[in-house]
Amino acid sequence: MIHIRQLHKSYHTEALSLHVLKGLNLDIETGEYVSITGASGSGKSTLLNILGILDSYDQGDYHLNGSLIKNLSEREAAVYRNEMIGFVFQSFNLINFKNALENVALPLYYKKVSRKKRNIIAMEHLDKMGLKDWAKHLPNELSGGQKQRVAIARAMISNPKVILADEPTGALDSTTTLEVMDVLTNLNREGITTIIVTHEKSVSDATNRIIHLKDGMIEYETRKNNGVHDTIQSVNF
Ligand code: ADP
Ligand code: MG
Repeated sequence: MIHIRQLHKSYHTEALSLHVLKGLNLDIETGEYVSITGASGSGKSTLLNILGILDSYDQGDYHLNGSLIKNLSEREAAVYRNEMIGFVFQSFNLINFKNALENVALPLYYKKVSRKKRNIIAMEHLDKMGLKDWAKHLPNELSGGQKQRVAIARAMISNPKVILADEPTGALDSTTTLEVMDVLTNLNREGITTIIVTHEKSVSDATNRIIHLKDGMIEYETRKNNGVHDTIQSVNF
């Protein structure tokens, strides 16, 4: 599903340029359940944003579902994104003056689906998240866990093949974190390739493969064996 070769990315500001990703190789197959972890500043969000075609890269190749994602126009990037990717963010990114149902339905509005149809589909997704009774509530009337489940419903409404979540539980307490992880785990079991950036062990432990980033390189990764992450698969490949 995701094949990355020799990926480099630098940020340039007036004062300096910062080499963030330094020749990264990564393969993630369809249906995998992966977390990306590492110290703050190690390049996790940069990598996730490139995976989600929100940001470009300088060198290397990125193939997503067989397509080379390189030098795309904004419009081409948007087409791949809409077809392939669902995003979940730490800060939920819900629209405050729209209720839960309207927030979930929004991607279908941009796809010019009729109001009636998009509300029916959005309600199905809210229902799946256990939030049917909260459809008319505004984000500020919802708990953090409920907000994140609304955001996940919104990510799912376009039937993405890949879910990318950047610190999805970063603003949640430990009980709510487990709730949100149950939701993501269930989506993965339905076959959606799920990639979560986190620095919480309880979150990475829930996934089947943990990629440890250090200074823009994969330092090592572990895979779950009999429910436990104990096998170092590769170091500095
Ligand atoms: P992480 O998510 O692992 O904390 P990031 O990928 O957000 O790390 O950032 C990696 C490094 O790149 C950090 O030093 C950060 O300050 C820098 N950085 C991130 N985004 C930008 C940007 N848009 N412009 C300049 N520097 C950036
Ligand atoms: Mg980050």
